[in-house]
Amino acid sequence: MRKILEYEFKCPMCRSMSKCSEYIYNIPIVGEVILTSCKCYECGFKHIDVRLIEVGEPRKVLLKVTELEDLNSIVIRSSTASIVIPELGVEVTPGPASMGYITTVEGIVLDALDKTKFICESTHPTPSGCSQRIELMEKASRGELPITLILIDPEGVSTIVNKKTVFEHLKTD
Ligand SMILES: [Zn+2]
Repeated sequence: MRKILEYEFKCPMCRSMSKCSEYIYNIPIVGEVILTSCKCYECGFKHIDVRLIEVGEPRKVLLKVTELEDLNSIVIRSSTASIVIPELGVEVTPGPASMGYITTVEGIVLDALDKTKFICESTHPTPSGCSQRIELMEKASRGELPITLILIDPEGVSTIVNKKTVFEHLKTD
């Protein structure tokens, strides 16, 4: 990992000036990615992002997860990419505070499972369909339910590392 850039940024929370650093990081199989890390020393606000070094076209990145092995595929999700898993009713659209991260397909399914469990347990009365959704997500996390992981990436800097991954051009009109 090597630092390539350092620049000032204005903290969106407290408006004080702080610093961002950018690093190039080489991941086996994936290639080079850029990690951005900003931290405000006044209020502790943090922003982290990750993206492929080569910028592509706006695109849909699609993987049909059909084997246990597919769950281990590395996912580079930049802060502006949405995550959709139609079979599980998962739809994560990025907000202004959303961050980019490197994870696996399994990591995304488990994260969705955690969030669903949290919502189901903290809402009274329990929303309908909770137990069914949790059961489906648990099955998917064990590789017992085929799912489709879709990243909708307006910048073309996210990817799913798997030879079955399909890239579709995203119309931006
Ligand atoms: Zn701040």
